[in-house]
Amino acid sequence: MAVDVKLQKIMIDGGFTCPNRDGRVGRGGCSFCLCESFNPQYCRRHSSIAEQIEAGKDFFRNKYPRMRYLAYFQAYTSTYAPVDVLRRRYDEALAVEDVIGLVVATRPDCVDDDVLSLLDSIRERGYSVTVELGCESFYDRTLVRINRGHSAASSVEALRLCHARGIPVTVHLILGLPGESRDDILAEADMINALPVTSLKLHQLQILRGARIAEEWEHNKGDFLVFTMESYAGLAAAFVRRLRDNIHVERFVSSAPVDMLLAPRFGVRPAVVEARIRELLRRA
Ligand code: SF4
Repeated sequence: MAVDVKLQKIMIDGGFTCPNRDGRVGRGGCSFCLCESFNPQYCRRHSSIAEQIEAGKDFFRNKYPRMRYLAYFQAYTSTYAPVDVLRRRYDEALAVEDVIGLVVATRPDCVDDDVLSLLDSIRERGYSVTVELGCESFYDRTLVRINRGHSAASSVEALRLCHARGIPVTVHLILGLPGESRDDILAEADMINALPVTSLKLHQLQILRGARIAEEWEHNKGDFLVFTMESYAGLAAAFVRRLRDNIHVERFVSSAPVDMLLAPRFGVRPAVVEARIRELLRRA
């Protein structure tokens, strides 16, 4: 009997920085960002890209009988370097046995024709390539408030450029950013419906100890939606219900290490929250 081949993303830190930290766009980064919160145990900046992937393969080795891998350049802004540097780092990942493609996480103002030509050339070599685009909000007033350093228009433009080349994009959106009401958030579903978006990852705003937004939250809690597990599940389900049918929601909820998380603390695993959202969607 044939055994299915399963595809597993392996998160790696490609050694990039971010224009919102090194001064090109801003310093200090987005107010919610604490990069330490999203690197898994096997992903270490001081290891080479190939070593990180091999460590990831070891980590997932027993998950399925037959596996192939996507190298997920997740940390910081993974298109933020000269194109020849990008090519070398992507190629190092693609040279690892059983890696069949890339997932490249970036911000809208770091997507341009040079980067997309490089990604296109990798696709022409037969590899899968997906861009993960951190839009986070489609309200300029929010983007300013969280020190994001780009506008909603730049998200729209990046989506347009990727779409023109047929490069799949997964948009990241944070629900619960300061100053956004439930209605504001739901209206973003309509904005997304009008854009060439095929795939979406939703995150609840997580207030992390040490992130700058933690201070704002401490002093101004009234400007934040206070999510319980049930209220977040209800909002996420209402949001998804409002999306076009052909937008695939890849993620409904995020998880940061509990010791870093000030709020919201759902007290259950992300899988339980996702199951609740799916249950609400089935009832719709
Ligand atoms: S969220 Fe991304 S763009 Fe913002 S500071 Fe962190 S790495 Fe940079």
